[in-house]
Amino acid sequence: MTPQNPNIPAPFVAPFVTTAADGRTLVPGGSVYRPPSEADSLLLQVSVGCSHNRCSYCAMYTDKRFAIRPQAEVEALIDAFARARPAPSRRVFLCDGDALILPQARLVATLAYLRARLPWVERVATYGDCRSILRKTPAELRELADLGLGMVYHGVETGDDLAMAAIVKGSTRAQVIEAADRLRQAGIRHSVIVLLGIGGVAGSERHAHETASLLSRIDPPFVGALTVTPVPGTPLYLAQQAGEFVLPDPWQLLGELRVLVAESALTACQFASNHASNYLPLRALLARDRQPMLRAIDAVLAERDAGMLKPEWLRGL
Ligand code: SF4
Repeated sequence: MTPQNPNIPAPFVAPFVTTAADGRTLVPGGSVYRPPSEADSLLLQVSVGCSHNRCSYCAMYTDKRFAIRPQAEVEALIDAFARARPAPSRRVFLCDGDALILPQARLVATLAYLRARLPWVERVATYGDCRSILRKTPAELRELADLGLGMVYHGVETGDDLAMAAIVKGSTRAQVIEAADRLRQAGIRHSVIVLLGIGGVAGSERHAHETASLLSRIDPPFVGALTVTPVPGTPLYLAQQAGEFVLPDPWQLLGELRVLVAESALTACQFASNHASNYLPLRALLARDRQPMLRAIDAVLAERDAGMLKPEWLRGL
């Protein structure tokens, strides 16, 4: 996930003041995140931070306390988008970390206002997870889809229940399956993010095989494989410092990627490992390009030449 705003003119991501449930005034500041594929989207901050904010590897919103932005501010920002000339992007991304957690009435109001004021917008996307997806009934998700919500980016991270519990993901494999089924039934595309290395050395094989099997079960149209990077200050980093979590080396990480590519039975999935965090960038239609992808991975694994990997200085979160 990428800190972002360079493509959006200043008025569109201007800092705002909002009020938390206890009446405290919050000036969010900090970074705004969006998936790489939303680089050209308008970033509409309907909420601040993440309502979960407990995943052991995540430092994205540790500087923010979760709050829902007042609807009047959201609509004022949409009005600013509407006045912009030339008309800005045809896509909108709802921020911050899990905007789908907003009450249904607020999401409906926001999507309806977007449609009324920015009729050229073709797709709205957001981050979501099992907590936020499963709080919505199938009918509510369908309602959001009908109002333009076309994509949910979901950090599943792993298909291994043990690893999910260890990273305090707040969900289970069974819940991921149910969430995926609900999104599919609603006609909302599911973009799944998995994290190479999140099981550590000890759980590496189980993480890879269980993740491939989960991906096969939910068969999403998009999968992005990122590589976990323990960020100073996070519980995962502290566990690494204490020797309780050992990050797989680049060759083990490539081995995990190989398992995902070899074992994931995905019918029409765009599979990408081209995130900045990865050692070997690949992007392909998995069902069509599985063998060339495997050959590319195997060639690197056979040589074990670090020169064939993305250098550390080019890697990023
Ligand atoms: S749900 Fe997402 S944004 Fe929230 S703590 Fe976990 S990884 Fe971070």
